[in-house]
Amino acid sequence: MARVRLVNVVKRYGRVVAVDHVNLDIGDGEFFALLGPSGCGKTTTLRIIAGLETPDEGEVYIDDRLVNDVHPRDRDVAMVFQNYALYPHMTVFDNIAFPLRARKKQLGLTEDDIRSLVVSVAEFLGIKEHLEKYPSQLSGGQQQRVALARALVRKPKVWLLDEPLSNLDAKLRVAMRTELKKIQMKLGITTVYVTHDQVEAMSMADRIAVMNAGRVLQVGSPSELYHKPADTFVATFIGSPPMNLLPCRVREAEPVEYAVPEDLSGGVMGSGKVKTTFRLECPGIALPIEPGIASKIAGVDEVYVGIRPEHLALSGKRVREVAVTETTVEMVENLGSEAIATTRLGDELVKVKLTGEARFKPGDKAYLLIDPRRVLVFDKKTGKLIV
Ligand code: ATP
Repeated sequence: MARVRLVNVVKRYGRVVAVDHVNLDIGDGEFFALLGPSGCGKTTTLRIIAGLETPDEGEVYIDDRLVNDVHPRDRDVAMVFQNYALYPHMTVFDNIAFPLRARKKQLGLTEDDIRSLVVSVAEFLGIKEHLEKYPSQLSGGQQQRVALARALVRKPKVWLLDEPLSNLDAKLRVAMRTELKKIQMKLGITTVYVTHDQVEAMSMADRIAVMNAGRVLQVGSPSELYHKPADTFVATFIGSPPMNLLPCRVREAEPVEYAVPEDLSGGVMGSGKVKTTFRLECPGIALPIEPGIASKIAGVDEVYVGIRPEHLALSGKRVREVAVTETTVEMVENLGSEAIATTRLGDELVKVKLTGEARFKPGDKAYLLIDPRRVLVFDKKTGKLIV
């Protein structure tokens, strides 16, 4: 097993900076995800670790060994591609045996050794009965397992996975997520996993690097990214539906105490009191700011206030005590166990996750409840989290 480190890595393609001064420190045995939109540089970063691309600047270390000039074959890493890249003219057995046969002499292996290694990894991945078949005779999920087996058979130090589940249908993808995570945990193998799917990254990874335009914006655990996103990009990339962002102004206010009663929001907000000396003037609503965070916000004028749909509530009853405003429900998407309502705050559309019994339909008047303790405040100029 191994630690993987990237220090100030830069990769350019002509005028495109695909990877822009990336620094990563991936721990031994860690499941680490590179997450970001299409074209943000995830695959290039992975290929640099694999040795399939050479960085223009910076250093790559595997287990404290500088590997910039080490051939991919000698890095002791194994990569799984999105399209599996299986050899169609070879049986499953020969596909899995391929990396061993390619290094047979170097590894000092006999054909018997190879057979026993292939059978053991095929057993581990539940594809032993398919060893004599050809890839075209297998389902997508089975082909995926063959690709995983081929990457694991020579017990690499690092496992590099590039969107390995994206060719599977939705149901199989969810099942394979659990499977992959189990395999990774059982083997304790350092894993770098590229995906543009935040749910995939959040559900599997120990830590995630969120990338955009070649840069790493934040590295953190799923919980850190969710609760303390470094900027508005991360805030809106993590979570579904995305966090609402309202353009607001910071103003001083008379000290007021707001009560936040639990029963009105079906428990979403929790009860408590909020004292305020500042307020945020947002479209259609003024939000109190707790004194504890007022010092951080003093001197800032324009901000984005971030509120997750799950931290808002709609109530049919008139309420006065909380940060509340009357609104009209514009749209409701019913997702079964929950529903997403879209309502209007001034010129802004705001999404609210509805759970429990409360059901609204388009055109309904409702009260939108905001728990001032659950909002995040971002500097409007820089997009960075203030508090
Ligand atoms: P996707 O999720 O779509 O695969 P990605 O985040 O993995 O995207 P990369 O494939 O790393 O992104 O690409 C990053 C940028 O570098 C993109 O602008 C892409 O067009 C460019 N790029 C990648 N490989 C090459 C190449 N071989 N030649 C020229 N430009 C490239």
